[in-house]
Amino acid sequence: MSWRASVLTLFPAMFPGPLGLSLAGRALRDGLWQLDAIDIRGFATDRHRTVDDTPFGGGAGMVMRPDVLDAAVGAAAEGNPGAPVICLTPRGRLLDQALVRDLSAGPGVVMLCGRYEGIDQRVIEARGMLEVSAGDVVLSGGEPAALLLLDACVRLLPGVMGAGASAVEESHGPDGLLEYPQYTRPAEWQGRTVPEVLLSGHHAEVARWRRERAEEATRTRRPDLWSRHLARRSQPNDAAGRLDGPPAAA
Ligand code: SAM
Repeated sequence: MSWRASVLTLFPAMFPGPLGLSLAGRALRDGLWQLDAIDIRGFATDRHRTVDDTPFGGGAGMVMRPDVLDAAVGAAAEGNPGAPVICLTPRGRLLDQALVRDLSAGPGVVMLCGRYEGIDQRVIEARGMLEVSAGDVVLSGGEPAALLLLDACVRLLPGVMGAGASAVEESHGPDGLLEYPQYTRPAEWQGRTVPEVLLSGHHAEVARWRRERAEEATRTRRPDLWSRHLARRSQPNDAAGRLDGPPAAA
């Protein structure tokens, strides 16, 4: 059975959206993953198909009701056994590549997309959902976050990326480094040249240069990732060795 994504949303027409194109779209058509976009409104019990109500304690906006969401999550979980249930929220842990790797190695994912002011906390706790944020920003709904998470997971599924592409030598890989800069033809463009070493055909030198540029980029652009990389590198069973070159000086 292929990897399955069940997305609970008030806007099922947003799916597959961009995931119907390119790599993910081809993989979807080839059956390498499956997608169910489930309309939360289908689990409302009144004739107006109400899914929200005013917040206890007062304040602006509306909150999504726990009873309706519980029924929706229950149905999605039954159709996607063993998949973790994720609630997309700016209050969650930040999405990162380690979580993406874990999720893509499992059976799939059930995702709850909030709208309005958010979701009644009781259903999040009762269902043991993992709260995940797409970044320190506030979106108008969980759907763009769900698309982001799915895109990142689907490209790691077996058979989705072409043979030439690698998920190991890229940013946020197991070593936690950003990738080195990339260049292609023409070798000179608007007076800017490509680093000489990349034209040398000397594989060990290219690997060393790439390693140094990856470390430099991480150190200067993302000191948080660099500290984590250094901590990991000092572990006895260090998984930080990628590419062929030795680590550059810190
Ligand atoms: N009142 C909420 C707060 O301040 O934390 C924001 C609600 S937001 C307008 C509506 C919905 O969008 C949320 O329930 C959540 O599902 C989704 N959302 C917004 N920002 C998000 C983010 N950074 N990551 C994941 N989901 C997000």
